[in-house]
Amino acid sequence: MPTKKKYAANWQKRRREYLIGIHYTCEHCGVRRDQVVVNRHGKMDGAGIQVHHPNGDTENPDAILIALCESCHQKDEWRMRRREDREAELTMQSVGRWYDQ
Ligand SMILES: [Zn+2]
Ligand SMILES: [Zn+2]
Repeated sequence: MPTKKKYAANWQKRRREYLIGIHYTCEHCGVRRDQVVVNRHGKMDGAGIQVHHPNGDTENPDAILIALCESCHQKDEWRMRRREDREAELTMQSVGRWYDQ
């Protein structure tokens, strides 16, 4: 069953203020919201700037935020997922070692 992420009560407000503060600019590649880019479907589209939680702690009211365009955001989400996979793998390995002893 997919678990729905919880967001802090102040998230919508923080998100809006953060985007205004950073002038709707991607912090990875510097693209602006009003710039036209090729989106992940291969179509020309406005670079939608989104606010990402680099630490994944969406329920933390003081969480560190980063503004990313849609394509940078996708990449970061993949990287986070891969890191989680690797951590799960490492846990499996240490369990395996424990059984070998
Ligand atoms: Zn970007
Ligand atoms: Zn994100």
